[in-house]
Amino acid sequence: MSNSVISLKDISVSFDGESILKNLNLDIDYGTFVTLLGPSGCGKTTTLRIIGGFVEPDSGDVFFSGERINDLPPHKRELNTVFQRYSLFPHLNVYENIAFGMRIKGKSESEIKDKVTAMLRLVALGGYEKRSVSTLSGGQQQRIAIARALANDPKVLLLDEPLGALDLKLRKEMQVELKRIQQKLGITFVYVTHDQEEALSMSDIIVVMNHGEIQQIGTPVDIYNEPENGFVADFIGESNIVDGIMHDDYDVEFCGARLKCVDSGFAKGEEIDVVIRPEDVVVIPVTDAKFCGTVLSSTFKGVHYEMIVEIPNQDEDWLIQSTVSQEVGREIGMTVEPENIHIMKKYTGDYAGDEEYADSAEG
Ligand code: ATP
Repeated sequence: MSNSVISLKDISVSFDGESILKNLNLDIDYGTFVTLLGPSGCGKTTTLRIIGGFVEPDSGDVFFSGERINDLPPHKRELNTVFQRYSLFPHLNVYENIAFGMRIKGKSESEIKDKVTAMLRLVALGGYEKRSVSTLSGGQQQRIAIARALANDPKVLLLDEPLGALDLKLRKEMQVELKRIQQKLGITFVYVTHDQEEALSMSDIIVVMNHGEIQQIGTPVDIYNEPENGFVADFIGESNIVDGIMHDDYDVEFCGARLKCVDSGFAKGEEIDVVIRPEDVVVIPVTDAKFCGTVLSSTFKGVHYEMIVEIPNQDEDWLIQSTVSQEVGREIGMTVEPENIHIMKKYTGDYAGDEEYADSAEG
């Protein structure tokens, strides 16, 4: 626990008899950008609110720098929260919004002024002190909310889908800004989102959650390249997930083909899930192919073509990406390099693409 600023130990929470978090364990290191990622309703916000002190767990402990803080009220915790809705005070100008927390703490006017100036510079809004917050754009308001939260020098900043209300272009800009701010200040950010691309591009560590349980904790590269189960693979980017059999170490069969892979340690004959990313399928002549399929559609996506391919005896069609388009209706040969074949233990839960997820994602 020594390097952790926050540790959650065996946290469980139920609302109205429904279990929302199940024995959750999570250590967050100092100075990291950690993202809680998962579909709507999986318990991300509840986890954040437990750290913030707004929700009391039914069981389990919350530690801050090694000290148990279960009974410490939110305002005494050395952290601050930025919400999706900016929640600025509409009757106060930009300066007073940022100064608010420092005034409550009884800081001197010169200290407040220096801090407000520094914070506005940090969020690239130097000179905006006198502006009424109601005249600011959504992106600017969110920058002010971030400046206000950081003005209190929190050790940890909690961010609950802070970019959710912004349009796509602004969201991308703010992702870069937030990462820059976090790196500059070197404080811990705990960020909640259901947007996998946002999580991949900003985080040092991603915590993938589903149904109140952590599915995987890892760097963006680990999570993308080495998903631990089918849910993670499916939720992080688009994947082809098919049934396979491990005949031996480094020897897998799927889609009627025997291929070399880089995985070992499974039982001989064990049924497993095989995950193949669309960009990792190599199109080759049918005569050399490990397995074949028929092109059902081909769509130009800017940098590549995205093709849907029907493979005999497979429940699901495959998605493949290639810089070369293939004619619809044509039979193509395919193979996959050993290091691009990801073998996982069979996952028995729901996939991100399942109906239940689709229903909950609307909420
Ligand atoms: P979203 O991305 O939609 O915010 P989330 O992963 O953050 O989802 P939570 O907000 O943590 O999910 O909610 C998890 C579950 O707990 C949901 O089913 C939600 O309806 C329920 N829930 C959350 N807070 C309460 C509450 N105060 N009372 C009752 N149920 C709640």
